[in-house]
Amino acid sequence: MSAGGLARDCMSDALHLVCPHCQAINRLEAARLAEAPRCGQCHRPLFAGEPVELTAASFARNIQRNDIPVVVDFWAPWCGPCQMMAPQYVAAAVELQPDVRVAKLNTEAEPAVAAEFTIRSIPTLVLFRAGREVARQSGALGKSEVVRWVRGHLG
Ligand SMILES: [Zn+2]
Repeated sequence: MSAGGLARDCMSDALHLVCPHCQAINRLEAARLAEAPRCGQCHRPLFAGEPVELTAASFARNIQRNDIPVVVDFWAPWCGPCQMMAPQYVAAAVELQPDVRVAKLNTEAEPAVAAEFTIRSIPTLVLFRAGREVARQSGALGKSEVVRWVRGHLG
């Protein structure tokens, strides 16, 4: 929490954003966030209309190198509540981006990442800021609950 003010000061001009497609780190003016920015390397949109699927290979880079907060939905294909929440989470992504990077992690495909973050039940949402966990919550949420939960922790 104490890092919040510091991060905001550093973010006044340029932001670093990890491309969800090629993982290149883009540097762009904060004011350009809302202008549907594209990756300087692969030229694809830095914000798609849906959550970014993270893997063990891309997880740390996305958590640590994005200057915007990152929210991750830890889920699994066999989990009923996760399936119910999925379209709600997509709708939340549309609303939260580009202020927040909205991502997901398949705990069945990437159990090592789930273990590293001590995920005990799914779905679990974890909010990261400047590489550190700032909040987590377990259980399926609707779209507006996700948006409210994320924004409530970013103040
Ligand atoms: Zn790219």
